[in-house]
Amino acid sequence: MSLYTKDSIDRLKDAVDMVELVGARTDLRRVGTRFTGLCPFHEERTPSFSVNAEHKLYHCFGCGESGDAIRFVQETEGLDFRQAIEALAERYNVELKREQEDPAAERRRERRERLLKLVQRATDYYARYLWDSKEAGLARKYLAGRGLDEQMLRDFRVGYAPSAWDKVTVAAQRDGFTREEIAAAGLGQRGRGGSGFYDRFRARIMFPLADPRGRVLGFGARAVRSEQQPKYLNTSENELYHKGRQLFGIDRARGPAAKAGRVLVVEGYTDVLALHQAGLTETVAIMGTAVTPEQVTLLSQTSSSVFLALDADRSGQEAMLRAAKIASERGVELRVVEMPEGTDPAELVTERGPDAFTELLGTASSVVEFQIRRVLADSDLQTPRGRDKALEAVRPLIATAESPATRDHLVRYVADKLDLAPQVVTISLQSAPRQAAEAQQPREGQRRPERLLDGASRGERAFLAMCISQGEAGKAYLARVSDGHLSSEALRLTRDHLLAHFAEPLAELPADDPVIAATITEVVMLADEEPSSEPALRLGFLQLELRRIERELRHAGQGDDFDRQRELWSERENVREAIGHVMGETP
Ligand SMILES: [Zn+2]
Repeated sequence: MSLYTKDSIDRLKDAVDMVELVGARTDLRRVGTRFTGLCPFHEERTPSFSVNAEHKLYHCFGCGESGDAIRFVQETEGLDFRQAIEALAERYNVELKREQEDPAAERRRERRERLLKLVQRATDYYARYLWDSKEAGLARKYLAGRGLDEQMLRDFRVGYAPSAWDKVTVAAQRDGFTREEIAAAGLGQRGRGGSGFYDRFRARIMFPLADPRGRVLGFGARAVRSEQQPKYLNTSENELYHKGRQLFGIDRARGPAAKAGRVLVVEGYTDVLALHQAGLTETVAIMGTAVTPEQVTLLSQTSSSVFLALDADRSGQEAMLRAAKIASERGVELRVVEMPEGTDPAELVTERGPDAFTELLGTASSVVEFQIRRVLADSDLQTPRGRDKALEAVRPLIATAESPATRDHLVRYVADKLDLAPQVVTISLQSAPRQAAEAQQPREGQRRPERLLDGASRGERAFLAMCISQGEAGKAYLARVSDGHLSSEALRLTRDHLLAHFAEPLAELPADDPVIAATITEVVMLADEEPSSEPALRLGFLQLELRRIERELRHAGQGDDFDRQRELWSERENVREAIGHVMGETP
C-alpha cells in the first residue's frame, strides 16, 4: 500500500503547473499547443525537449527521457517517488492524505514534526543573528576571510549562536515547547549536576545539517575564538539526527549532482560553500573521518559516480574499502581524488579556480589503487626487506579487485614500483592470506531484484506498473508488451505473471523464485504510485517501442543486413511521429 491516498496524489497532479515546473529548469517556448526547450537531461544546442501542458507530460526527442511531473522531480532533483510527491505537495500547496495509520505511528510522526519545527525555528533564529547582531561581527569576519559571499552563506542558512546561556531555550519554551522536546531536538541541555537548563550551542557559527529535502535535522557548530573548546561541536545523536547518515549540502547538491552525473565529497563545511560558490554545486561534505555505509547509500541515490576529495591521512583504509564495496554493489563508481600536499579543496578553488579542481578529478583513482599507492608511499622501497614488507601489505588489497583487468593493472603497477617482474607479484597473490579475499565474497544471496539498475529497466517496470493501475486499457497494453520490449528475463517472467493474474497480481507469487516474486511485488507497489492517465500509458508504450527498435538497430548495425536496417529506420520514424502526436506535435 502506498503511503498517500490515491485521491491526494491525483489532486497533487491536478495542481501541478507543468510548464512552470519544467520552466524552472530550462527555458520553454510555446509553439502552437506545446512547449519546447533545451533538454535538462542531456547537452544540446537545439531544442528537442517537449512539454505537453494539458496531459502534464514531458518527452525528449533527443535522449528519450520522458514522464510526468513526479518523474520529472525525481530525475532532476535526485529524489525517490515519495520524496518527490512531498516536494511537489509543498511547492503547490496540496495537502497529502495518508492511508490509515496506526495510532502509535501517528504519534511518532506528530512528535517528529514538532521536533523538526523546533529545529527549523532555531535555524531561522541563528541565521538572523549572524547578519543582524553586533556580537556576530567576528564570525562574519571569519567567513568573509574565507572568501565566502553573503548570498552563498544565506543560501546555506549559515547562522550564529549567541553567547548568552539560554536565548534559544527560553524563546522555545515561551512558544510552548517543553524542555524535554528542546533537549530531544538537540538544542538544549541540563547543567552538570542536573541543575539549570541552557542552550547547547553558544558563541558559534552554525552550519545547518539538512536532509535531502532541505529539512534541518541538526547542526555543525564551529568555535569562533581560539580558546573555545572543542573547535567543532555537533548535534549529538538524537531522534532526528544521525551523524553517520548526514551529508552537509545534500539538499542543495542533489539536483546538480543528478544533472552532472557525479557528486563530489569533501570534508569541511567551508569547502562545500567555496566549491558551490565556484560553480561546483554538486558538492557535499561528510560529517566525520570515515565514509559510512548510509552515506554511500545516500550518495548512490544521487548520482552514479562519486568522487571523494578527502584528506588522505584522515580517511581510514578499512572504512574506505568498505565504502567502495557498498558503492560497487549499488552500481556506483567510487573514486578518490588526492589533494595536493597541504591544500584543501576550498583553497584550491579560491586560489586557482574551479577548473583546477575539475582537472584534479581527471586524476582520480579507484579506492584500491589509492590505498595501494598510500602503502607504497609509506614503505621503504630502497631495501629488499622493505620491498618484501610492502608486497606483503598490498597483496590483500590487490586481492580485493574483482575484475581481472583491474587486478592485472594493479599487479603491473605494484611490480613496477617494487621493481619486480609482474609474474612474481602474481605468484605471491596466490599465496596471499585467504581471509582478505574471502572477506570480499559475501556474494551469496546477491541475486537481489535489479532495483533501479539502469534507466531502461526502470522505465520498463514503471510501464508494467502503469498497466496494472489502468484496468482494462492497461491490460490491453500489457498484452502488447513483447519479449523484445523488455531488457531482462526477470521482467519477461513478471509480465507473464501479471497477465495471468491481472486482477490479483499478488496472488500465487512464484514461491520457488524469490527474484521474480520480488520484482512482481515491486511492480505492484509501483502501480499504487504510477501516474495513471491514458496519454501517459500511450507515451510509455511508444517509449518501449523506441527502445526496442534502437536495440534492434544496434544489433542490425553489426552485420550488413541493410534491408532490415532500413525497415527499422522507418519504424523508428513512425514511432517518433506517434510520440510527437501524443506530445501535441501534430504534423
Ligand atoms: Zn534529452
